Amino acid sequence: MIWYILGAGSLGSLWAARLSRAGLPVRLLLRDRQRLNAYRALGGITLAEDGRESLYPIPAETAAQGAQIHRLLLACKAYDAEAAAASVAARLAPGAELILLQNGLGSQQAVAAHLPRARCLYASSTEGAFRAADYRVVFAGRGETWLGDELGGPAPGWLAELQGAGIPLQWSGNILERLWRKLALNCAINPLTVLHQCRNGELAAHPAEVAGLCDELGQLLHASGFDSAARELQDDVERVIAATAANYSSMYQDVANGRRSEIAYLLGHACREGDRLRLSLPLLRALHERLRAYLQARGLPDT
Ligand code: NAP
Repeated sequence: MIWYILGAGSLGSLWAARLSRAGLPVRLLLRDRQRLNAYRALGGITLAEDGRESLYPIPAETAAQGAQIHRLLLACKAYDAEAAAASVAARLAPGAELILLQNGLGSQQAVAAHLPRARCLYASSTEGAFRAADYRVVFAGRGETWLGDELGGPAPGWLAELQGAGIPLQWSGNILERLWRKLALNCAINPLTVLHQCRNGELAAHPAEVAGLCDELGQLLHASGFDSAARELQDDVERVIAATAANYSSMYQDVANGRRSEIAYLLGHACREGDRLRLSLPLLRALHERLRAYLQARGLPDT
């Protein structure tokens, strides 16, 4: 069974390279003919890992045309996920299995709603990779990836195949809680690093602001049914701030490089869920508005 990978960016290329070198059949799905030609001219994906570069001549085609798809990794940004999934919807076999790699929440449910005949599994990853250039990716940080099904059901039989290819995958019986924990951490840290223009560790100088956000995010986690996540949030946030003190957050880097952020699927999703659950969350809403104004002032999308 072929693994199709839609989105040959940082994580998509990292997954593609590992599947390919394990001898598993894999094909990249690119946006259009222009992107396909650019890819073919380079001869494949280049992955830099542990100071070594290797070229993986993985076959590629456009998303619009080709054979039926049974297994798909959707590896684009959250704001592109619905359109990307729609571009291959006609090629999906009934019962096709999809891995949705998007950060935050909201895009996964939107994709799943459009594909009722497919099984959409959600992933939450702490691996790190970035694009040094088109189709040239650097594997920057080892981590793990949790995979689960919001609707329940067993782990897929191919999990071991992916683990055998060196992808550090684990099955989660509660993937929504994992994604919510990550979203809450992100909301407590990343927007403040943008607004204060600082590294993660410098947030230790703003304890009251961080604690206020943790309190409201805890209310949101609690109202969503994730009690232990709510209780542990403040400690988790302080631990991450200390452990990643020298790092710039992903949102900081997106904004600094003039790239669109995933704000709508992180802080935006938290505020929308707050509305749905009728929570007031004044600090989170004020943070969302400040961040949106900051992005608008720089000509960046604020949703
Ligand atoms: P990325 O490097 O920006 O790659 C996204 C890729 O998706 C790009 O190659 C883009 O194509 C492609 N794409 C978008 N729409 C498409 C479409 N309609 N058809 C075909 N291709 C399409 O993104 P990433 O960093 O891998 O992130 C993917 C997701 O993983 C995000 O939600 C991110 O937050 C999450 N994540 C990333 C990391 C990491 O370290 N990178 C870690 C954890 C989680 P073009 O090249 O043509 O624009």
